[in-house]
Amino acid sequence: MGTPAPARRKAIIVGGSVAGLFVGNMLHRAGWDVAIYERVPDDLASRGAGIARHAEMEPIMAAAGVTETGPLGIQVDGRIAVDRHGKQLGQFAFPQYLTSWSYVYNPLKAAFPGGRYEGGRELVAIRHDGNGPVAYFADGGAEVADLVVGADGFRSRVRHLMAPAVVPRYAGYVAWRGLVPETALPAAFRAEGFGQYCFCFPPGGQFIGYPVAGADDSVAPGHRRYNFLWYRHVGDGAPLADLLTDASGRTHDYSIPPPLIRPDLVDRLRRDAAADLPAPLAQVVALAEHPMLQPIYDVESERIAFNGVALIGDAAFVARPHAGIGVLKAGEDAWALARSLAAGGSIADALARFEAERLPAGKDAVRLGRRLGAFIERGHDTPQSDPALGLTTEFILRVSARPPSHSPELLALA
Ligand SMILES: Cc1cc2nc3c(=O)[nH]c(=O)nc-3n(C[C@H](O)[C@H](O)[C@H](O)COP(=O)(O)OP(=O)(O)OC[C@H]3O[C@@H](n4cnc5c(N)ncnc54)[C@H](O)[C@@H]3O)c2cc1C
Repeated sequence: MGTPAPARRKAIIVGGSVAGLFVGNMLHRAGWDVAIYERVPDDLASRGAGIARHAEMEPIMAAAGVTETGPLGIQVDGRIAVDRHGKQLGQFAFPQYLTSWSYVYNPLKAAFPGGRYEGGRELVAIRHDGNGPVAYFADGGAEVADLVVGADGFRSRVRHLMAPAVVPRYAGYVAWRGLVPETALPAAFRAEGFGQYCFCFPPGGQFIGYPVAGADDSVAPGHRRYNFLWYRHVGDGAPLADLLTDASGRTHDYSIPPPLIRPDLVDRLRRDAAADLPAPLAQVVALAEHPMLQPIYDVESERIAFNGVALIGDAAFVARPHAGIGVLKAGEDAWALARSLAAGGSIADALARFEAERLPAGKDAVRLGRRLGAFIERGHDTPQSDPALGLTTEFILRVSARPPSHSPELLALA
């Protein structure tokens, strides 16, 4: 009889969205016994909208076991800026891929062993016994592991349990988002506007539009969608509370599920679009059937590694979406954690190395997002309204939707 194999190390991943799937796949491939527990019972694929797909993502997807077979998304040649009347303010040549959130989520989910992913499981507590962290679930279940990874998003329960002082801070504005099937758009817009990554500066906000994959993840012409994001200054207190109040009069904390957004708010959004946006972009807003509303928050952690517990993705840091790196950052966090754990030594040592690598990266991302959104936070009409902010249309065009690591010059500017 041979020597028994050493027990596999066990990881519990809390949250089955992109961060959880990145790290779940990586640790599974490294031989860990991995279970992902996701609060939402159903598949998450319908939840996302458009995202920028950075080249840095490819080795991370490969490390998660996803080998690309199709196109990376829809390639655009660069960005253009227009004013509220549609007059061009500037342009910046920067080829990049744009795609939908599910285009990343779906292959990650497919790569993970189905039997080890459980929906409808909500983590409520973590305690430590002599053997390691023990995760407790709302359904009464409990499980001991060598490592618990909090990949549970911006309102992370795991972060709340480990570092209760760190809470999301409202940035002073919201993002309305929407998707319109390519075929529903007017022919003139399809011919001229659809392929552009467009930045527009209506009063008190910023509008961004770009093409993304279709609902079936297809990037073939005729199957794609146009994605918009309209950042709008909304004061804290009553104005924000009104947006988060549903038709029954209930005011939601932090965000509101899309089906509960009041129709009168969507009507107002469309009226404001007609008044404040160039006609083709106002039409995009009018055609989006179910606009989503997302208040913008910053989350800045001081620690992301604890006793047998790590935080990754939005649970660790939330950078305002201007930098367009939330999904990439989730992948980078996961990869750093998996590499640290693979390097040997104790889990405590690996977590310390992970924290030393990813804490500064998270802080950089938050800093860049704050800088890019500073004029919207203050309710200014244009990036240059307050010269003290040092923002220009050109800066916004050059720096948005790019990782802070792209060049030291970008970070120095932020
Ligand atoms: C307006 C907007 C635009 C954006 N644009 C981009 C972009 O262009 N590019 C980009 O890369 N990123 C973008 N992002 C950010 C990106 O969507 C997020 O950074 C990314 O989804 C974070 O992934 P995550 O897995 O860390 O968290 P999430 O996707 O939030 O997932 C957390 C998961 O944990 C689950 N969960 C929560 N609590 C528990 C619990 N107690 N027990 C079990 N499960 C739990 C949740 O149900 C959820 O599924 C944007 C975000 C916003 C708001």
